[in-house]
Amino acid sequence: MTTLQEKGTLSINTENIFPIIKKFLYSDHEIFLRELVSNAVDATQKLKKLASMGEYTEDLGDLKIEVSFDKKKKTITVSDKGIGMTADEVKKYINQIAFSGAAEFVEKFKDKTNASDIIGKFGLGFYSAFMVAEKVELITRSYQADETGAVRWSCDGSTEFELHPAVKKQRGTDVILHIAKDAEEFLDEHRLLGILEKYCRFLPVEIKFGTRQESIEDGADEAGKKKHKTVTVDRIINNPRPLWTQSPSDLKDEDYLKFYKELYPLSEDPLFWIHLNVDFPFNLTGILYFPKVKNDFELHRNKIQLYCRQVFITDEVKDIVPDFLMLLHGVIDSPDIPLNVSRSYLQSDSNVKKISQHITKKVADKLQELFKKERESFEKKWDDISLFVKYGMIADEKFYDRAKEFVLLKNTEGKYFTLDEYHDKVKTVQTDKNKNVVYLYTTDAGRQDSFIQSARSKGYDVLIMDGMLDAHFINTLEYKLDKTHWKRVDSDTPEKLIAKDDHPQMVLSADEQNQVKSVFEKAADKPGIQVTVEALAPDELPAVITLNEFARRMKDMARVGGGAFPFGTMPDSLTVAVNGNHALIQRILKAENEAEKTRLARQAIDLALLSQHMLTGTDLTAFIKRSVDFIS
Ligand code: ADP
Repeated sequence: MTTLQEKGTLSINTENIFPIIKKFLYSDHEIFLRELVSNAVDATQKLKKLASMGEYTEDLGDLKIEVSFDKKKKTITVSDKGIGMTADEVKKYINQIAFSGAAEFVEKFKDKTNASDIIGKFGLGFYSAFMVAEKVELITRSYQADETGAVRWSCDGSTEFELHPAVKKQRGTDVILHIAKDAEEFLDEHRLLGILEKYCRFLPVEIKFGTRQESIEDGADEAGKKKHKTVTVDRIINNPRPLWTQSPSDLKDEDYLKFYKELYPLSEDPLFWIHLNVDFPFNLTGILYFPKVKNDFELHRNKIQLYCRQVFITDEVKDIVPDFLMLLHGVIDSPDIPLNVSRSYLQSDSNVKKISQHITKKVADKLQELFKKERESFEKKWDDISLFVKYGMIADEKFYDRAKEFVLLKNTEGKYFTLDEYHDKVKTVQTDKNKNVVYLYTTDAGRQDSFIQSARSKGYDVLIMDGMLDAHFINTLEYKLDKTHWKRVDSDTPEKLIAKDDHPQMVLSADEQNQVKSVFEKAADKPGIQVTVEALAPDELPAVITLNEFARRMKDMARVGGGAFPFGTMPDSLTVAVNGNHALIQRILKAENEAEKTRLARQAIDLALLSQHMLTGTDLTAFIKRSVDFIS
């Protein structure tokens, strides 16, 4: 037994380190518990390791870690039965090493005025206890020492510590925090349980926090009916073998679904998942789930959680996971992600970049595999996953190159095509006179129905592009795919959607066309509406309203946030295309007076607006009244 009894001064020039630690970690005081429990886990794992190597031959016994608190004494205690420390080790690890870590932290950040980006990112380890304690005691017995060979260390938050010999029955370490006045909120069962469940939920050693009542079977009565009795059992707050640490080959679908529920209790089942398992050139495990995402409302509800050796770190994974994959759910665990540093450092860290690229690649692999092996089921899931895929293709070149093989386009008949398949399908009919293949799409099949019908009657195919990101996605595709144009079905008259050489003949003379134009301009009676007279098929509508593709697309993109377009408040640029070949136009030309001409033209315009659900309010009332006049 060592007979040491010591007082000493921690070797640091800063007068008092703890007020600074306190100040900087202010908003994140709760991590003290994460740090102390992780230390306890480390100490326990080290002992197990020694035992497995035959270096420790005594009985390991129950290795549970226990967290407890005493409201009266104002203490919180973390106890482990791990390797413990000898007096020399306490001096080395607690007085010098741990302290120098804290000192380095202070040195680095004492001049920073804005500490928000470092809070909680700098693991202070043991010394983070001083965020909540006015005095910390540590009673520890090394696995090499006997009952009387323990040591007691204490420090009151000044730069002085005390070290005494002590007696301790069990191997391991107790860390006792004497909670400071301003941290008494932590002397509360719910608060502590909340913190443990947040950070320690998947730690690899069982952690006990109090007890709970459990009903167990207790024989049977005479009639054979089972009896139950209530017993008090340890409340274990963690699952020491979370799914991502297990081998994928041992796991079934149910296991993954169950784990998903464990992570996000209130969510719908995910579509599928990827089990990540990398050990070179960095270490990374995890499970990423693809949820059903249909609207932006659900987007950021469940986040990916980041762990470091099963210790929860954060669910702000912004810099580690590429933006478009933030839509995924699940966990990532890596000892190689530098967690104790500020965000700007994280972004420039090369490991972080590699991890991000690797995750992207794995996601692409998984999607490709599903597409190749189970096309039918891939198509069924497509509407739910298209958002990720499209987002990825817009945001990430490398992902685009992988995803272009399996991204699907859906047409108004509900059929799905790859980019190549679709190109082959439409190229003959939908190539214009400049050799561009024109892809027609609708953003709202209900409202644009008359245009869809006209396009289809000409043998054209129409794609459904009504997703949140489709305006951007169309731009990406148009840029990437050679000699391809995209046009919304209502962006031009059916004749002009795909410019061909063989137009129908115009029956009106140039003079008549001018007359018709001015009649319609007068009837339209709105600034910003353009009128053209065109040779459409006689069975098309007498007038159609079209929306300029370019201007409309800019507006759509501005709406989902694609940079600061000045178009946000721009009115739609509408064109009234008058069908010069329609019988009604002859009637207008032959009408006896101006008023009648205007009335007929107005009716034609209103019908065009009506077919697109654009006729509302007083215009609609006037139209109905006029229609009644026509038929009476
Ligand atoms: P870190 O855990 O990052 O090394 P800490 O400040 O948390 O830094 O701890 C410093 C050292 O003190 C640890 O590396 C370990 O050697 C020792 N230590 C801390 N807590 C315990 C414990 N519960 N049991 C045994 N050793 C411990």
